[in-house]
Amino acid sequence: MCLVRFVAINMIKLEAAELAARIKEEVKAEIASGVRASLAAVRVGDDPASAVYVKNKIRACEEVGIRSEHHALPESTTTEQLLDLIASLNARDDVDGILTQLPLPAHVDETAIIEAMDPSKDVDGFHPVNAGRLAMGRPVFVPCTPAGILELLDDRGVAIRGTNACVVGRSQIVGRPMAQLLLQRDATVTVCHSRTRDLAAVTRTAELLIVAIGRAGFIGRDHIKRGATVIDVGMNKVSDADEVRKLFGDEAEKRLDVVAKRGSTLVGDVNPSEAAEVAGRLTPVPGGVGLLTVAMLMKNTLKAARLRR
Ligand code: NAP
Repeated sequence: MCLVRFVAINMIKLEAAELAARIKEEVKAEIASGVRASLAAVRVGDDPASAVYVKNKIRACEEVGIRSEHHALPESTTTEQLLDLIASLNARDDVDGILTQLPLPAHVDETAIIEAMDPSKDVDGFHPVNAGRLAMGRPVFVPCTPAGILELLDDRGVAIRGTNACVVGRSQIVGRPMAQLLLQRDATVTVCHSRTRDLAAVTRTAELLIVAIGRAGFIGRDHIKRGATVIDVGMNKVSDADEVRKLFGDEAEKRLDVVAKRGSTLVGDVNPSEAAEVAGRLTPVPGGVGLLTVAMLMKNTLKAARLRR
């Protein structure tokens, strides 16, 4: 057991609300100066989390002055019907950005839908053309979550060049594009996933640790290098009182109140009370990465409008 672990560390919480508001203000000012921009959001089925995400995105459009439309389709929608809608949105001159909320129901061919989107309207940056451009170091639309994380690191003056960075998770929407962005900024990047052997031994080498795995509080003190900057992308719901106590330590009572009121509380992939013992900086959940994702969507939609008009 390592003694230095018990020397108190003054961890900084990387709250993102102020930066997210600033990004949206910048978009709003450009829209107010006469740029017209519009976003079409497409959602299929009744997944409550997806409904909340789309509602938040539509609300952000209203805040900044981006025209928006919400296509909420029934669970029974087929791949062909969705392809028809995407084709019509691609063809419309008054639509600058298209957002298809993922995941789609299992019977819909998600890849076909993403690939059918006009890359110049792909404000989520998921189309192979945009993923390819990013991999080649010539990005146009970068997926909103990793793009927001980069903004946060830059805003807080967190060094990237030459650092050992570790990304845990290799999804198309977070892990892979995040690794590409860090590589482009001259970090030495390791990507971990569910088959990584001795994950903690790898993550403990990282000065910059970015976690996107979808497992509540999975990353603990043993995964984190002392003083590291830890970015927690995870958004998981926890309702079990013992688990809440284990995750939140001194702040558990506040979270238990939330569980009592709403049935669950939002938890990242990092155990916040254990991380506080070793990390130098940590993004909170909620109040961290999630806010930036929506702000970056506004920025990408404005960019699409500028490039198209
Ligand atoms: P995903 O598509 O579910 O992929 C999860 C990744 O984590 C996979 O690459 C998987 O490895 C890896 N993984 C799973 N268990 C692991 C383990 N025990 N050790 C190491 N790696 C493991 O994930 P995602 O869509 O990127 O989402 C991840 C989390 O971020 C979720 O909680 C999601 O809700 C959240 N999220 C938040 C935002 C935001 O705005 N804050 C945006 C997007 C996602 P394999 O590839 O080997 O299966």
